[in-house]
Amino acid sequence: MTAGRWDEPAHEALRVRAGTRLADLDPGSTPGWDKSRETGEQRLVDQGERLSELQERLFADGRSGGTRSVLLVLQGLDTAGKGGIVRHVIGMVDPQGVALRSFGVPTPEEREHDYLWRIRKALPGPGKIGVFDRSHYEDVLVVRVEELVPRAVWETRYDEINAFEAEVAAAGTTIVKVALVVSQDEQKERLRERLERPEKYWKYNPGDLDVRAKWPAYLEAYQAVLDRTSTDLAPWYLVPADRKWYARLAVTELLREALDGLELGWPAADFDVEAEKRRLDSMP
Ligand code: ADP
Repeated sequence: MTAGRWDEPAHEALRVRAGTRLADLDPGSTPGWDKSRETGEQRLVDQGERLSELQERLFADGRSGGTRSVLLVLQGLDTAGKGGIVRHVIGMVDPQGVALRSFGVPTPEEREHDYLWRIRKALPGPGKIGVFDRSHYEDVLVVRVEELVPRAVWETRYDEINAFEAEVAAAGTTIVKVALVVSQDEQKERLRERLERPEKYWKYNPGDLDVRAKWPAYLEAYQAVLDRTSTDLAPWYLVPADRKWYARLAVTELLREALDGLELGWPAADFDVEAEKRRLDSMP
């Protein structure tokens, strides 16, 4: 069965454009998708299969001397569903071809270096899909809101990040940046669930409420990220995340479109296929 189609490609429907206001986005909306949740879930399965095939092509290309890779950058406030995207979207492809990295509070070793040091080390090699669960954007989000460095320092980072990402793109990496947007109400529900279910306590961190208390400051910091770092080479996509099924479908679609855009075939044989068939046939 073929599941429904998008009204327009996800990269059009979700792309951050000049003037996009985060505050105007309804986190419960489903841009580009006017069909049911059930149809969306079918489409996720369909697209997952396609994604998996494209990922294998990318991997094969990398094994055959290709230099391309894809980097998915995931940002979002607590409970926005970054972990769910990793499990349910990235989980649909062969783990061999994925380079997943989560970025938490910098370690003492990381602190001895520039903020991009740990990021550079984690970039996906040829043929890989890299996934950043949080990223260098924390250095203009939490760092800005919590004033962990002076304004003069974080102010210069937007341009530095653009230059860095341009360099990464020039080396063959397609960058897809996703901001998952959860509403304050939905976040409250999700945090409450973590407090009510013992199997979710491990996900709860009392510090999450301190972050939640600074919602307007985070909104402002996210807006600055969108205004200043959404470039043609490394665009941001805003994904409403109150409906988990939609967010997962949207990110799958964005990744699939990015991989399709590489127009990868299968690598040609670097051996004589007919001769190898004859050799095999001649064997017992
Ligand atoms: P998560 O909340 O994503 O499940 P953690 O509990 O490990 O994962 O939280 C990661 C924490 O690390 C977040 O609070 C985030 O703000 C913080 N963090 C990430 N990068 C930086 C950074 N460069 N400087 C300070 N804090 C950071």
